Amino acid sequence: MDEFLENLINECRKYTDMGKVATYIPELAKVDPNQLGICVIGTNGKIFRAGQHQNRFTIQSVVKPIMLLLALADNGEEVIRSKVGVEATGKPFDAINMNAGKLESKHVNPMVNMGAIAVASLIKGKDGNERFQRLLEFTRVLAGNPELDINEDVYLSEKRTGNKNRALGYLLKNYGLIEGDVDEVLDTYFKACSIHINCEELARIGYCLCSHGKLWKSDERVFEARYANYVNAILTTCGMYDGSGEFAINVGIPAKSGVGGGIMGVVPTRMGIGIFSPGLDDKGNSYAGIRVLEKFSKEMFLSIF
Ligand code: GLN
Repeated sequence: MDEFLENLINECRKYTDMGKVATYIPELAKVDPNQLGICVIGTNGKIFRAGQHQNRFTIQSVVKPIMLLLALADNGEEVIRSKVGVEATGKPFDAINMNAGKLESKHVNPMVNMGAIAVASLIKGKDGNERFQRLLEFTRVLAGNPELDINEDVYLSEKRTGNKNRALGYLLKNYGLIEGDVDEVLDTYFKACSIHINCEELARIGYCLCSHGKLWKSDERVFEARYANYVNAILTTCGMYDGSGEFAINVGIPAKSGVGGGIMGVVPTRMGIGIFSPGLDDKGNSYAGIRVLEKFSKEMFLSIF
């Protein structure tokens, strides 16, 4: 399998030049696009790695399902459903997803920025800092690395330039969809997006979702099984934003991308996958990462459909 993955990575390396690294967060523009790595962790207890799987990158939107899991555990499904919806947006990740009328919770999907900012405000904590620390701790547990931390430069870069997210935050506040101070909530969100991670850690998080809440090589359940069903379902319809339909056909697994170039894949009951390649397609999903997942899924019959 290691050899199979190594061949897959070599075959797809040509695609790393076809994407473009994100530049709207200035610090991300400095990232070397010629990186490609993968890690796969199976429910048979095995782990496989290939390419530059050790390289670190910022988690960006792959933190959204983690935030949703913690907010679900903190508040229960009913409260979450009253603030954020579950329907696919079919729109880019930073879209203002509302019509002329009132902004309602059902317009807000937790896998795009607007919904994720609302979810950040639902994580329990006395202030933004405590909310973020609880999220970081939870991410450390899922990822199996107690030293996981943020990339300070990327965090500050996004905090300095993230005015569109600020606008989304104030819009949500205006319609009563976020609690507390908007800037504090945004600070939690920007920090969350800048958690510095690698392929293995992403695969471990994906593993927890594939195994309905169990940590790799452990029987410990760290969130309720039904929350894995909830999150995996939303990943399927909106994890790749307005590329989710095509991804469902070509790859066919719940997955989440981030503009740092990471993709977390979840094959329910079978495996968690972490992939990294920073060049993005026009929807903000890793270009080479999707090609790798597509070939991998076809070879291994991973599609859930
Ligand atoms: N931090 C990024 C933002 O809010 C996350 C977006 C993404 O990864 N798609 O714009």
